[in-house]
Amino acid sequence: MKMVDLETQQGRIREALDQRLKSVLSHGQYIMGPEVKELEGLLAEFAGCRHAIGCSSGTDALLIALMAYGVGPGDAVVTSPFTFIATAEVIALLGATPVFADIDPRTFNIDAAKLEEVLKATDRAGKLKVKGLIPVDLFGLPADYDDIMAFANAHDLFVLQDGAQSFGARFHGKRSPALAHVGATSFFPAKPLGCYGDGGAIFTDDDEMAAAMRSIVLHGKGGHKYENVRIGVNGRLDTLQAAVLLPKLEIFEEELAHRQAVADQYGRALAQVVAVPHTPSGMVSAWAQYSILTDRRDELQQYLQQKGIPTAIYYPKPLHLQAAFGYLRYAEGDFPEAERASRRILSLPMHPYLADGEIGAVVAAVRGFCES
Ligand SMILES: *Cc1c(COP(=O)(O)O)cnc(C)c1O
Repeated sequence: MKMVDLETQQGRIREALDQRLKSVLSHGQYIMGPEVKELEGLLAEFAGCRHAIGCSSGTDALLIALMAYGVGPGDAVVTSPFTFIATAEVIALLGATPVFADIDPRTFNIDAAKLEEVLKATDRAGKLKVKGLIPVDLFGLPADYDDIMAFANAHDLFVLQDGAQSFGARFHGKRSPALAHVGATSFFPAKPLGCYGDGGAIFTDDDEMAAAMRSIVLHGKGGHKYENVRIGVNGRLDTLQAAVLLPKLEIFEEELAHRQAVADQYGRALAQVVAVPHTPSGMVSAWAQYSILTDRRDELQQYLQQKGIPTAIYYPKPLHLQAAFGYLRYAEGDFPEAERASRRILSLPMHPYLADGEIGAVVAAVRGFCES
């Protein structure tokens, strides 16, 4: 059994994939080839927004968006402490300061009710100006964009959606990552839509932001390649990765449905013995991970490992307690919900090609452990 099964998927798309790769090898436009444009068009259509910009990774997608907003020293950006390091790393990389707000323990996403307090406390301290928010759609479930966007618009803040795990999720009929002012996603191989290396994309309906981000991706390019109007990065998506993503995007909708079916089966069978994921009404998760909560997490993980069932812990240490952010002077107890989740969370195998027998084996093992 596998946490993520890329082999079975490859078997399904092998012919189209070979064709696509062959075509790149013969036209030879490895940088900004026609596959990149084609993919960007399909991504924008899929997400239902005006612009999709391919880029080199999910991390760079976040970084490029923050650069376009002009985030720098003296600015604060509010985000979740319960996420992958990249979300807050890009804020620090630009000389700005990550400010954390605790999560809602039911969704693992930033608690919109805590934003007011965090904004006031940062204002009172008087050193930093809060410029924007980066909500994270952990495990594929969109954050609470109704309340987050209302709060941000009332306080004139930008919202950058970290949709690295939620590509294709739904929020009241809208698609992730087109749920905020700008959305970022990752095509890291294990994400719901993954390529065969690093890749990502940025989404927005804002023409001005789109133009700035397109320029930043290409070293701050102006009218032509050797005219540079701003400081940028080398942040392009490779043509070969775009060629990999094209056939994968074709079967993606169906894969999302399979992920949902797996989640439904897990949920029905496990809800009595562990805390299973909660999906607020109006939302559909992309199910990057299926994560349960239990007080006997480490024991359960060992037990499952003995039965040949792989699991993973996302994330064992919240960001405010990471050495890299020691300079922010947060302490244990500052974000109790994130800390509690980090001690109790466990992700089970989740991918669209899990067989009924495999799901049954996971369920039987978890139930067996809990009932013993
Ligand atoms: C994977 C991930 C990223 C970074 O994406 P990369 O493509 O690996 O750079 C950022 N944020 C979250 C929440 C992620 O899961």
